Amino acid sequence: MKDAVIKKFSVSELDAELFTPFTISTGSHRSMENAVFSLEAADGTRGFGEAAIATHITGETREKTMRSLEKAGALLAGRDVSDYLGALCALEKLLDGNRAALAAAEMAVLDLATRRQGISLWKFFGGRTAKVKTDVTVVIGGADAAYGFTLKMRRRGFRIFKIKTGVDMDEDFRRLEAVRKAAPGCAVYLDANCAYSAGEAEKFLKELMRRGIRPEVVEQPVKKDDIDGLAYLSRRLPMPVCADESAYSLDDVYRLIRRGAVTAVNIKLTKLGFLRAREVWALARAKGIKLMMGEMLESELASCAAAQFAAGLGGFDFIDLDTPFFIKNSGMKGASFLSSDGVYSLDKVKSGIGIVPGSAR
Ligand SMILES: [Mg+2]
Repeated sequence: MKDAVIKKFSVSELDAELFTPFTISTGSHRSMENAVFSLEAADGTRGFGEAAIATHITGETREKTMRSLEKAGALLAGRDVSDYLGALCALEKLLDGNRAALAAAEMAVLDLATRRQGISLWKFFGGRTAKVKTDVTVVIGGADAAYGFTLKMRRRGFRIFKIKTGVDMDEDFRRLEAVRKAAPGCAVYLDANCAYSAGEAEKFLKELMRRGIRPEVVEQPVKKDDIDGLAYLSRRLPMPVCADESAYSLDDVYRLIRRGAVTAVNIKLTKLGFLRAREVWALARAKGIKLMMGEMLESELASCAAAQFAAGLGGFDFIDLDTPFFIKNSGMKGASFLSSDGVYSLDKVKSGIGIVPGSAR
């Protein structure tokens, strides 16, 4: 159909300040420096995607990502967006080495295709549930900061706290005890971002449980290539062990599952893109592996896209899509379906992702 042909694209920077630095064991974001990819069809319908650049985790830079998105635009121009699967397959080939750009380009294609169809992204992915509620992250910092932040967010209505650990064990015990004091009875997830050896992780978790704190899931306790370590911890720990940095591709997840190394996997669109994320979801579901939906530092645009992916497909045990709450003003419009206590109420989305960058006129 002529109206569905992609006529224009643009690539722009998306910058925002943060309320507090987003610090994990491997590094820190002091501000958000992402990119927006926009597409426009011949009938004037537009679609938007966001590339979340986490150089300290992925090595991807914004310069490279913006160049990749220019290439994606050139590839997509003239294509009929009704064949969205053909577009996603072509993008997967073009952008394999720059997954943040791939996720943004796929996001814009699917936003555009679903806007043209007049359906929301979560209905497009399966329509399983209209609501998902995210945890909130307690970043690396002092115990007092952890206490104050947790108390504030619990009062706002958050009930699940994801604690970043891995810089100093004694300090981490104090932080976790501060979180428990500020939010008694609330669930705790741990994310060490590769910080420990398997032995250290076991020691840390055993001591934590001795103190009466039992996380519901332990994410990426060991280095990304330490598959034996993950397997050891999956056998020894009573809670799910979740791969994040170790799970960057469908192949990675296939190998982890075959070796019995994990009991949960963190799906991030920024790592996998939509096409592969859907395949990882199917593989994990078929093998009884639990699923987390996660993200890098992402504004409402990419976060709402991820929420719709998870809500539409269903079957996610852990939802970790809280980074919009760290961003001062991303300029995104239409995000009123994300409440201040972390609930994405997607039945309010009319079509596509439902979010428009403020820079788009
Ligand atoms: Mg993680």
